[in-house]
Amino acid sequence: MFTSCCPAWVKYAETFYPEILDHLSTCKSPIGMEGIMVKEYFAKQMNLDKETLYTVAITPCTAKKFELKREEIPGTDAVITVSELTKWLKDEQIDLRNVSKSSFDSLLGEGSGGGMIFGNTSGVCESALRTLYYYMTGENYDEQKISFSDVRGYENVKEATFKINDLEVKVAVVHKISAAKKLLEDVKNGTSPYHFIEIMNCQGGCIGGGGQPKYNEEMEHIVKEKRIAGLYKKDKEDTIHASYENKDIQKIYRDFLIEPNSEIAHRYLHTTYQKRN
Ligand code: SF4
Repeated sequence: MFTSCCPAWVKYAETFYPEILDHLSTCKSPIGMEGIMVKEYFAKQMNLDKETLYTVAITPCTAKKFELKREEIPGTDAVITVSELTKWLKDEQIDLRNVSKSSFDSLLGEGSGGGMIFGNTSGVCESALRTLYYYMTGENYDEQKISFSDVRGYENVKEATFKINDLEVKVAVVHKISAAKKLLEDVKNGTSPYHFIEIMNCQGGCIGGGGQPKYNEEMEHIVKEKRIAGLYKKDKEDTIHASYENKDIQKIYRDFLIEPNSEIAHRYLHTTYQKRN
């Protein structure tokens, strides 16, 4: 299975590797899921008319602006990048250093460390494996029990095998699509050994997205490595480290989606792909 949260990678697969589309996870990207849940779930819970809601996602990513136009992914009305948000804050003379901290609104305000590390290369893979570990062992992920250090880091292609009970899960993580060519050819030819492959378009993952503030070449890698370390630090400080522990997510399944993979969960959280030229 390939990850599907990076719209630039999804579009690349649809254009250049349509043979592998059956292996792409049908999960929408995070903003694809969030947008529709705001319109269909949040609106209902808050007694609001969904037609009156206008949803704006703030992303590190310029490809999300393209994703917004996909008919299969409704719910998000606009995407602005972090750079655009920064420009707007400056225009409005808002300095974040002088703004007091507050919590996100409820509902849908709670996150987890497992969601936060999506921004790093290998974060999506690690987050999925934390959940897999829980479902297979009944125990929460814990660094002492299973370490993901083999897939963390800045190299363009990383491989690892994780043993969970009797299962050996072979994974590969790639950032920068140009580095994925050999791996994709192996999958196409049926010779790939991996169960799970994460591909992100940008160097370092979303922390290096096209919508992030830019630095010169000399500073770029230093800044990206600091951003990666920053997200792992925030994950460590967080009290929950996986989506299944998130109280808002648990409530969504209890009140609305029933259970993972239910018909309604598929209707709102999953998508389809098509060959493009
Ligand atoms: S890796 Fe880059 S293109 Fe892909 S979702 Fe992240 S920021 Fe967007």
